[in-house]
Amino acid sequence: MKIQSIRCVQIRVPEGKPRPKPTRPPWSDEAEVANPMSKFPRYKRYRPSWLPDRWSSVWVQVTAEDGTYGLGMTSFGRACAAIIEDHFAPRLVGEECLAIEKCWDMMFRMSKPYGTVGIASSAISGVDLALWDLAGKLQRKPVYELLGGAARDRIFAYATGNDVDWQKEIGFRAVKLACPYGPTDGLRGLEENERLVARARETVGDEIEIMLDCYMAFDVEYTVRLAERLRRYRLKWMEEYLIPEDLDGHVAVRERIPWQTLATGEHMYTPFPFAFLAQRRAVDILQPDIHWVGGLTACRKICAIAEAAGLEVILHGGGLTQFGLHLTAAMPNTPWAEYWGPPPGIRPEDYTTPWGPAVMQDSCLFPTPGDGFGLQIEESWIEPFPM
Ligand SMILES: [Mg+2]
Repeated sequence: MKIQSIRCVQIRVPEGKPRPKPTRPPWSDEAEVANPMSKFPRYKRYRPSWLPDRWSSVWVQVTAEDGTYGLGMTSFGRACAAIIEDHFAPRLVGEECLAIEKCWDMMFRMSKPYGTVGIASSAISGVDLALWDLAGKLQRKPVYELLGGAARDRIFAYATGNDVDWQKEIGFRAVKLACPYGPTDGLRGLEENERLVARARETVGDEIEIMLDCYMAFDVEYTVRLAERLRRYRLKWMEEYLIPEDLDGHVAVRERIPWQTLATGEHMYTPFPFAFLAQRRAVDILQPDIHWVGGLTACRKICAIAEAAGLEVILHGGGLTQFGLHLTAAMPNTPWAEYWGPPPGIRPEDYTTPWGPAVMQDSCLFPTPGDGFGLQIEESWIEPFPM
């Protein structure tokens, strides 16, 4: 069975019953989050002030000769859609639908003249996920069965976000805080960061794990100073403390704080930087994003690299979509999933969409049943992507 067409689309879900309103504004409405632009006063206060705001999600529809189609999802709007529609799509039409490794390798190599990382690897992700969805539909199996079958029947999910009282109330047993301050905030920032973690520990007690996400905001020195200051709060891990290109910096942090569990990877692309980190054991947990790193095919390679180094993979955002859950269900070394915690007052069962998050129970998730990624998307909701 050959690929007949590849196109970018958007999914318009019909209005359902209105979601309940949050009982207070979520932390993300107002909170300052340390980030790589924090050194520029004009953009320091609020992360969304510099992030691209006109780039929507991009869905990819790959259709086989018999009319069966698969759907994949990625980010970065028209820029990403242009790579898929103008470059990859016409050159993949006519390839075997099930030759996913070959198609991945073709996209990886086709993108060389302008670079495979970033938006190009997001474009690869969208096509790759659609091919996996199609493969599952053609073989009438969920993707986790194509990967060898479920390795676990429940996936432990942790909540991301600073509304830890609410996350505790709805049953999460691990929470991840966004760190507000970085090197430009000096000693006062260090103290405020400590206060945030101390308050969270006081709120959740000793039975719930706490992690700290640093969103590429620090340098080596700041990472070490903050980790030493926070040691008494027993962080499960510190995440993404350096800009992703500073691979040697990751080795330096590992050497200076060998006792701290370290995690990174959501802004790294293709398996190569993960192989670098694994070889040097510079982090303990690899966190690729299945929608950006190169899709499920790249994540599967990263899981194998991690396994050979005795490391774990916990997908960025992977608890939020069916795409990530299928990989996390199937691999031996993917113990947890990330879940962007619902705003205060909204329970996880009222926070689902047809492609995720899945329903969370007792801090655990599992993919919804169905062939491919089990996406509950009607054909009539699929519309052309506005270029
Ligand atoms: Mg993160």
